[in-house]
Amino acid sequence: MSKVLIIEDEVAIAELEKDYLELSGFEVETENDGMVGLKRALSEDFDMFILDLMLPGVDGFEICRRIREEKNTPVLMVSAKKDDIDKIRGLGLGADDYITKPFSPSELVARVKAHLARYERLIGSNMPENDVIEIRGIRIDKTARRVWINGEEKQFTTKEFDLLTFLAQNPNHVFTKEELFREIWDMESIGDIATVTVHIKKIREKVEMNTNKPQYIETIWGVGYRFRL
Ligand code: CA
Repeated sequence: MSKVLIIEDEVAIAELEKDYLELSGFEVETENDGMVGLKRALSEDFDMFILDLMLPGVDGFEICRRIREEKNTPVLMVSAKKDDIDKIRGLGLGADDYITKPFSPSELVARVKAHLARYERLIGSNMPENDVIEIRGIRIDKTARRVWINGEEKQFTTKEFDLLTFLAQNPNHVFTKEELFREIWDMESIGDIATVTVHIKKIREKVEMNTNKPQYIETIWGVGYRFRL
């Protein structure tokens, strides 16, 4: 859930903004004092700031400037005078948007949504994509260590996940139980190759429609296992 901080000294306005944003599914915190608001803006994780211009202590200009020194989080400036907008622009504070009082709550909500969506796209485009293996109905997210079978997420233990992933990223390759045991259990090995059999059985119970006729992990009799492509 996106978290918004409102810094606004007029309590009634702050509460109104909060109510409307909460109705739209945002988590909202309010601060009525500029200095306290600035400290929270810098030290806590918010996804957006709504900043009144005229505040006791530190004003909105200064708060915006200080936020921009450290964060790219969207800032929506709220002012009582249209003239202030030119001033905000002129100062080049890096605010993302401006709105003048009185404004309709629905306009505020629409603007907050638009800025959050844009900011999330921006952050998303900078994140490296997860390393995912997809073979027929199975989807293995190696980065998040999560597995879905036909869209339904299944829970795997660490070793089950490692074994499934190893087989899936080497499809059509037959591995002996000894090879799999060495690969997955390595030197920490307590147990033996029977461990591999037990883990294959548990994995099949989660991924196969019919464990007697496996579609993914095939048994190659007398040799080992193979992930079917
Ligand atoms: Ca004010």
